[in-house]
Amino acid sequence: MSTSVLVCGAVFDGVSGELGGRAEIAVRDGVITEVGQSVGRPDGAEVIDLTERTVSPGFIDTHVHLTMDAADLARQTLASSATKALTGLALARDYLRYGFTTLRDLGSMDPEFPTVDLRDALAAGLVEGPRLVVAGHVLSASAGHGDLGGFYAPRWDLPVSAVADGAAQVRRLVRREHAYGADWIKTANAGGYFSAGDDPARGTWFDDEMDALCGAARLLGMPVAVHTGGAQACRQAIRAGARSLEHAYLIGEEGIEMAARAGVYIVPTMQMTQEDLAALRAGTLPGQAVWKFRRDHEAILEAQRLIAASDVKIAFGTDCGMFPFGHGIREFQAMVAAGLSELRALRAATSVAAEMLGRADLGVLRPGARADIVAMPGNPLDDITATARVDFVMRDGAVYRRPGGGPGG
Ligand SMILES: [Zn+2]
Repeated sequence: MSTSVLVCGAVFDGVSGELGGRAEIAVRDGVITEVGQSVGRPDGAEVIDLTERTVSPGFIDTHVHLTMDAADLARQTLASSATKALTGLALARDYLRYGFTTLRDLGSMDPEFPTVDLRDALAAGLVEGPRLVVAGHVLSASAGHGDLGGFYAPRWDLPVSAVADGAAQVRRLVRREHAYGADWIKTANAGGYFSAGDDPARGTWFDDEMDALCGAARLLGMPVAVHTGGAQACRQAIRAGARSLEHAYLIGEEGIEMAARAGVYIVPTMQMTQEDLAALRAGTLPGQAVWKFRRDHEAILEAQRLIAASDVKIAFGTDCGMFPFGHGIREFQAMVAAGLSELRALRAATSVAAEMLGRADLGVLRPGARADIVAMPGNPLDDITATARVDFVMRDGAVYRRPGGGPGG
């Protein structure tokens, strides 16, 4: 049994529109037990001085790929499941130090379930890192965004993509994800920029396939996250019953309104657009992405401004793996640059993300919540760049980073 008391200079509780002033947070056995002006000091409690910092719930990144490396995707996909899990663990541990205490991994390209194994090892305390929520694979139509076949010669029928055609095959794939322990179903109903031979502006599932996918997931009690692009595909995903739209690159006013009405979350992955823009300008964007991204980048930025100007529920997600994890924290700044208030960006990474995950015990600082707590100098509600200076990280009551602790501290 471990107990600690955090003495905080200011507090963002995950929800409130204004920072709370000086406060103390008591933590016992991984759970917040008390928040107040002054809390008791149980015997043996460690007192942690954060009086020069703003304290926040740990950040939640709802869109990462710990086992995919876009810089070398076609080759890296062929690595063993164990290599992917171990590489993913190293990335996850490092990412925790930026303040990301919970990650939703949205799919690996592998015949097995390396992220499920990684999630279980983390949950059992076999290894240290953030909490993981996982979708096993990116379920896709053949020739869709999740079909990596286009990277290889036709004679290689490699078992790395989770591909189905027709409602019966689609249901079977969903059931397989459930059987092997995925928490979420991830699918792509439109093409992508980095995938070969498809187009984000076009849909890839027929309505009956998308309905079969969401219907099977509903039957099994699994929420669905949909990589989507064109306005029509965005609307199809909402109609079918998706819980989150990923990217929603080219969503229009109508789709945003539909999402808001249906309570569907949008995860707009805005930093990725900035990464791709920089790569386009530098001439380093992969060949298969160039024509699509050159055509669409202004429309994507416009869609992001529309999303920011609406009252749709926005959750924080980066798509790290498609770009370096070290840049993921910049999503906060990209969100604010697109027009979100600092408060909405912070809520997106805390209470709203937790709500999307169905985890009332995450993303907030209040008694009964898991003790996932970060701290940073400055006031992130005035200056969002403060989020990039997190130097205290606690997950489930265990401290993984302390001010002045240096790289290993
Ligand atoms: Zn992704």
